[in-house]
Amino acid sequence: MPVTSPLPGDLEPIETASRDEISALQLERMQWSLKHAYDNVPYHKKAFDEKGVHPSDLKTLADLAKFPFMTKTALRDQYPFGLFAVPREKVARLHASSGTTGKSIVVGYTLQDIDNWANLVARSIRAAGGRAGDILHNAYGYGMFTGGLGAHYGAERLGCTVVPMSGGQTERQVQLIIDFQPQIIMVTPSYSLVIAEEFERLGITPDQISLKVGIFGAEPWGEGMRGEIERKLGIDAIDIYGLTEVMGPGVACECIESKDGPVIWEDHFYPEIVNPDTGEVVADGEDGELVFTSLTKQAFPVIRYRTRDLTRLLPPTSRAFRRMEKISGRSDDMLIVRGVNVFPTQIEEQILRDKRLSGNYQVLLNREGHLDNVEVRCEVQRELSDRLSPSEMDAISKELQHHIKTNVGISTRVAVMAFDSIPRTQTGKARRVVDDRPKQN
Ligand code: ADP
Repeated sequence: MPVTSPLPGDLEPIETASRDEISALQLERMQWSLKHAYDNVPYHKKAFDEKGVHPSDLKTLADLAKFPFMTKTALRDQYPFGLFAVPREKVARLHASSGTTGKSIVVGYTLQDIDNWANLVARSIRAAGGRAGDILHNAYGYGMFTGGLGAHYGAERLGCTVVPMSGGQTERQVQLIIDFQPQIIMVTPSYSLVIAEEFERLGITPDQISLKVGIFGAEPWGEGMRGEIERKLGIDAIDIYGLTEVMGPGVACECIESKDGPVIWEDHFYPEIVNPDTGEVVADGEDGELVFTSLTKQAFPVIRYRTRDLTRLLPPTSRAFRRMEKISGRSDDMLIVRGVNVFPTQIEEQILRDKRLSGNYQVLLNREGHLDNVEVRCEVQRELSDRLSPSEMDAISKELQHHIKTNVGISTRVAVMAFDSIPRTQTGKARRVVDDRPKQN
């Protein structure tokens, strides 16, 4: 059964509302959210008081700029329940961030929050082309990570048949996809390549795989990676964005008909882009750090939460809401190599220009004396593994080195390796960077 393209009649009225209607709803909800945080969370009350602002000062959406930011450090300092805005007994579920960049952060949800989350993930899957009745293979990890259960509740809400596979056990993943014939898969982009490789190993070609759509998130992935995944699985690859602190997956999601960056579900999350150095709000279209204010969350409201994710806001296309540009990385991922700022995804784009190379790669950094050394390890595609001569491998390596130097601006040593030389992720987010340089204080 094919996944159908969206019909306007499937959309919620707010998804096609006018900007005035959206802004009016946002203002009303933002006033509620600021008051809710101020009245119920001592951390927010103190932060507002110190900045000399009160929830009643918010008369327009632009007034939000007067309110204080929340940072990841504040969240860690309030571990575990210090930021909850409802009595602990009203918290129906806890989740924690995976701690990619430090100690984990605990968040809570009321039953109403879980209900809203399920609706937004259902909306996201529908935007990606999923429909009631589709079989959805969920390979996001279940547990404290928001991916597994977040996707699960949303898929059930939409009316899909959910296969709660979770991450890992690649052979079993593939066997269940062959047996159950799902139309949709939800998984991290890096693990989707591991699944694709297992299909290749079994000699199953993309046109023999039942999947039509993949909904990928939880880590940055570029347009080159989109092409690689689409080709290897024979699907449309759709970008879903979210983060634990703000909710989990489903804060924003691309639409299959345009694939032009995730649409932010602005009726629940108000986005701002700020200059990461000064904190000034910048205009739509300008690059900066994404900041979110939750508009409906009961248990864990966030006010001007600095995500550290770098992107820009784009005008509406397939829906009435604004979009964000596909994320190139978060400020924590940014490598400074001999003074040049580099995101791993920029290196990824150069690797994937060469169709002989796969999307599995790693960037290793170390320091010799005062100089940073960068080694890029990448792999040839399975079908070429035994076929290329050492001189051909060497030529690929030189070419990539040249592309990285000209387009990213750094000198690297490139090691082109045989297929399956680089460790695969089994559970979710790939470890793209191994930084062995001594820490600078
Ligand atoms: P952690 O911060 O410990 O990794 P999360 O699972 O909450 O825990 O990760 C959220 C982060 O993952 C986001 O802030 C963002 O950096 C990244 N992320 C999530 N979805 C995407 C996406 N579609 N594209 C790029 N990055 C994403």
